[in-house]
Amino acid sequence: MHPLLKKKGFIIDIDGVIGKSVEPIEEGVKGVQKLLEIGKRVVFVSNNSTRSRRILLERLKSFGVSAEEKDIISATHATASFIAKEKKGAKVFTTGETGLQEELINANLKLVDYRDAEYLVVGSNRNLDYDLMTRALRCCFLGVRYIATNPDKIFPSEDGPTPGTGLIIGALYWMTGRMPDVIVGKPSKIIMLEALERLNLKVEDVVVVGDQIEVDVVAGKNIGAETLLVLTGVTKKEDLNGAKVLPDYVLQSLNDLFFS
Ligand SMILES: [Mg+2]
Repeated sequence: MHPLLKKKGFIIDIDGVIGKSVEPIEEGVKGVQKLLEIGKRVVFVSNNSTRSRRILLERLKSFGVSAEEKDIISATHATASFIAKEKKGAKVFTTGETGLQEELINANLKLVDYRDAEYLVVGSNRNLDYDLMTRALRCCFLGVRYIATNPDKIFPSEDGPTPGTGLIIGALYWMTGRMPDVIVGKPSKIIMLEALERLNLKVEDVVVVGDQIEVDVVAGKNIGAETLLVLTGVTKKEDLNGAKVLPDYVLQSLNDLFFS
């Protein structure tokens, strides 16, 4: 039996582990199904900044994974709850798409234009234009608290890399010299501690599973959890040579937990 099957809880990344955008990764889906069958607690953690938990849940269901909204922690949701904890009903200007806006509204935050904002919330937007960037720039200059959903520079899509939230973070930095005051998504402890809280387990009883060293493995190490890197996503075996941080375990796919 693989030593990680002794763990009670699994914090699992979505993109590159159980799916690639809208396409399921069969070996990942099988792995999750088996973990659930043997009674493991599973929470899905995604840095995706354009999708709400509701949208991610629909995607998981389309892959054949049975989950509920409470089993999903997205960077959009974690950002909204982080701000709501800091300032109830805060006024927020966001660059984000409807997926992020939906989570901010669900957390009882008020979406406002940049002039009235107490927070600037940066998340990806596939319809980003000059006007939205201008308002984000002005919001940034007003000196309000600046929160980014996630630090991803690029996002791997089926036909190659596309800009991540880094497109806006980078542009704002170049224009204003400001970096976010807080970044919520992986590898930040903020989103990982929320996942741990959701599982209601001690860190030694969980493993963090993902396909990227700098994102998932570092996120696991930041909370002191053991980590499993799977090779179904962006990381290839040869990338491990010379990596600064190494996972505790490496498997070809999540399903290989049951065959090693
Ligand atoms: Mg991933």
